[in-house]
Amino acid sequence: MMNKKSSHVQASGFNQALVPLHEPRFRCMHCAYVAHSGFNLRNHIRKHTGERPFHCPVCSKSFSQKGNSLRHMTMHFAQSKEECPVCKVKYRKEKELMKHLNMHSSALNSM
Ligand SMILES: [Zn+2]
Ligand SMILES: [Zn+2]
Ligand SMILES: [Zn+2]
Repeated sequence: MMNKKSSHVQASGFNQALVPLHEPRFRCMHCAYVAHSGFNLRNHIRKHTGERPFHCPVCSKSFSQKGNSLRHMTMHFAQSKEECPVCKVKYRKEKELMKHLNMHSSALNSM
C-alpha cells in the first residue's frame, strides 16, 4: 500500500468501482432492483404495486408501462392508417406519429 496514485477509484470491489459517482439511491424497496433514475424506479415499482397509470385515450385500456401503452396505441394507428386515433391528425411518417402518440401518453402522467 505504498502506491500513492491520485486515482479515486479503488482497485478492490470491481462492481463498486464502476459506479463511484452514483450511489444506488434508486433502489427498489420491494426487491434488489437498482434503477438508473427515479423515473425508471417509479416504472419498476409499478410491477409490485400493480398500478396502471397509462390509459389508452382511444379505448381506455390501462397499462403499467408507458412503452406498453405506446405499443398498444400504434395498434390503433395501424387500423386508422397514418392518422392519430385520438385527435385525427394525419402523419405521413410513423416516427412523427410516435412522437405525437407519446405526447398523448405523457400528458396523462404529467402529475
Ligand atoms: Zn422491485
Ligand atoms: Zn386502445
Ligand atoms: Zn393526437
